[in-house]
Amino acid sequence: MSDASKGLSLYNTLTRTKDDFVPIDPLNVRMYVCGPTVYDFAHIGNARPAIVFDVLFRLLRQLYGESHVTYVRNITDVDDKINARALRDFGGEIAGGKLSLNDAIRLVTEKTADQYHKDVAALGCLEPTFEPRATEFVAPRADGKADMLSLIGQLIERGHAYQAEGEVLFDTASMPDYGELSKRNLDEQQAGARIAVDAHKKNSGDFVLWKLSSPEEPGWESPWGRGRPGWHIECSAMSAAYLGEVFDIHGGGLDLIFPHHENEIAQSRCAHGTKVMANVWMHNGFLQVEGQKMSKSLGNFYSIHELLETETFGGRKWPGEVLRLAMLMTHYRQPIDFTKAKLEEAERTLQRWADLRRDASNLNWRAVANRMVDPLPSTGLIAALSDDLNLAAAISELHRLSKKAEEGDEEAAFQLLSGWSLLGFTLEGVVARADVAAVIEATEGANIQALITERLTLIAAKNWAEADRIRDELLAQGVQLKDGKDPATGERVTTWEVKR
Ligand code: AMP
Ligand code: ZN
Repeated sequence: MSDASKGLSLYNTLTRTKDDFVPIDPLNVRMYVCGPTVYDFAHIGNARPAIVFDVLFRLLRQLYGESHVTYVRNITDVDDKINARALRDFGGEIAGGKLSLNDAIRLVTEKTADQYHKDVAALGCLEPTFEPRATEFVAPRADGKADMLSLIGQLIERGHAYQAEGEVLFDTASMPDYGELSKRNLDEQQAGARIAVDAHKKNSGDFVLWKLSSPEEPGWESPWGRGRPGWHIECSAMSAAYLGEVFDIHGGGLDLIFPHHENEIAQSRCAHGTKVMANVWMHNGFLQVEGQKMSKSLGNFYSIHELLETETFGGRKWPGEVLRLAMLMTHYRQPIDFTKAKLEEAERTLQRWADLRRDASNLNWRAVANRMVDPLPSTGLIAALSDDLNLAAAISELHRLSKKAEEGDEEAAFQLLSGWSLLGFTLEGVVARADVAAVIEATEGANIQALITERLTLIAAKNWAEADRIRDELLAQGVQLKDGKDPATGERVTTWEVKR
């Protein structure tokens, strides 16, 4: 095992094997994950890659250091589905001349991207290092970062793309190992093609890099006419812009293997003349709901937002951490059946953990929490996650640690707290709101009392600035101080309460 591998192994769709992960540069481990197309609220299936690759991001940061991991997740904000949505939602305004299609599109993409950010934050996902928007990478950029038009130009120049009937198409026959990811070969595709080969395509698998736009459609000037990019070229440009021509990990859901990732590979490798685009290709399994494929027509289609904020699934709202843990209870490569029973099981686990975290009878949680400036998850947890994100083993390890913590083992409690944090659980969302004061009292009470005493000393010394700083700091944590006088002694006293 090489030093840089840190014991991490990952299943690679490209090789169909679980391999030791060795980053190209351990000081900058680079991962790209295809993000949402922002025309509609993200559904619970879309939450799966967000959560799975968030766990991998956190693990990589743990192994290589926080500042040594670059995670890029894009926003696809140019797509014909977005145009259709803008016309549907703002058709009247557009027809009445109040709004241009472009402005309507921006309203749709901004609202949807905002909601996506709120959704994934509620699911405990960290922000990626960079979140490029496709529209900002179509035309050549002032900062010289990779862009779609230049990539398409390079593909034409190198004989991998051609123009036909208002489109620029990738010539799949120009790449001998086209199909390496999905293991489809071109002959099979040609012979098996159910759809007749479009007359203007040289090969049935050739795909669009650029297509012309009508005057009202969004478009960019290009050497091939005013038009817009195909979907696949977006990710080739944005990944190269932030991660370079060859990087470590590329992820997304299983459905993206073909054609999206296959075509990203074809474009990037042929434009840059490289042997690989990314070394490791990772794909999460699909999510279905109560045993059925999620679909709007079956009425079992749930957005993340609905699950968090409404009572449409199982007759109640579900906290983000419950959704997160439920998702992590199944191996990321397996299909997942999203059921009410699974959510309840996740909630029971989180409740047990939250109760333990609240219970100060056996453990000095304050002392444990104070060590969190330098968290250290258990080696068992790291080993489990390092085995291709074996979350079942990781969760068993947390159960083992919680038993020991219950018995008063402070070291186990510290590793447990570090482990929860590594997996993105704060346990705050799980505690019923009415209990918030009790939790703060149990875990923070002694500390708050000490700060109050310190503040009273500062006030006595007329150090108002420092005294106010303590008051404001506590307020930021939701703890409000109330100054008064002891009626018996006339002495200044301070009480505190949790603000709701
Ligand atoms: P889309 O916006 O459809 O391109 O999907 C965004 C991400 O969610 C992609 O990585 C998809 O592979 C993934 N995804 C979509 N539907 C599901 C599902 N039902 N289960 C798991 N992942 C999904
Ligand atoms: Zn992509």
